[in-house]
Amino acid sequence: MNQPEINTSVFNRLRVVLVETSRAGNIGAVARAMKTMGFSDLVLVNPRFPDALADPEAVAFASGAQDVLEGARIVGDFQQALDGCNFAAAVSARLREFSPPVWTPRAFAGHVQAQAELRPAVVFGNERFGLPNQIVERCNVLINIPANPDYSSLNLAQAAQVVAYECRVAAEPGTAAAGPVGFHGDSASLAQVDGMYAHLEEALVAIDFLDADNPKKLMPRLRRLFSRTQLETEEVNILRGIARQILKTTKR
Ligand code: SAH
Repeated sequence: MNQPEINTSVFNRLRVVLVETSRAGNIGAVARAMKTMGFSDLVLVNPRFPDALADPEAVAFASGAQDVLEGARIVGDFQQALDGCNFAAAVSARLREFSPPVWTPRAFAGHVQAQAELRPAVVFGNERFGLPNQIVERCNVLINIPANPDYSSLNLAQAAQVVAYECRVAAEPGTAAAGPVGFHGDSASLAQVDGMYAHLEEALVAIDFLDADNPKKLMPRLRRLFSRTQLETEEVNILRGIARQILKTTKR
């Protein structure tokens, strides 16, 4: 028999564990938070009400994430919830005297992204009581979401959203930096950009803005300016169009 291919994408590796959740709506909202970020492995440890997955409030809050809700497993203890995982992160608003190392969601996401063999669980506590110490002590790290020190307790599903979002951003390098997000056209090639500088230089000489015998640092400065903008082909064409028009006008 063929070995099943091990999928190393974080979207298949990360598990969300909710411990003793009190409100069905929060479970639905966590399912939604997970699905919007591309995650689906949800395990509930002893939810505090019966039939957690079919509860009308859970169903309503899950909205389009019914599949994540229906696919969730309910287990009786924390150990069972971690079955198949080799790393556990307690997600907690409270810093404790005896706690594993404290990480930000971003540090956790970077670590998980970098270690393909990690099967991590992120473990969230009850709305009122948070996570018990015995569970926190069994985790490898504690994830704390930086927040207002006077009121640092996020809603459970919102905390799950922040952690899931960071894991998604770390998994998709295009969204991590301050680079262009959303629509963008083809990046201009170096040859296209060089052609544009030559054209621009000619036009600036033609209008006596640039003295060819004493150019100073104008062209290097313009290069530096444009190199920060990640020029697209269409933008290079516009700038060349401007240069062309200047040359046409000055030759009249
Ligand atoms: N009163 C509880 C907070 C419960 S909020 C306490 O003192 O711990 C429900 C869950 O959301 C928490 O158990 C935790 O998993 C998560 N959470 C809320 N705010 C958080 C924060 N700032 N950092 C990390 N996790 C947080």
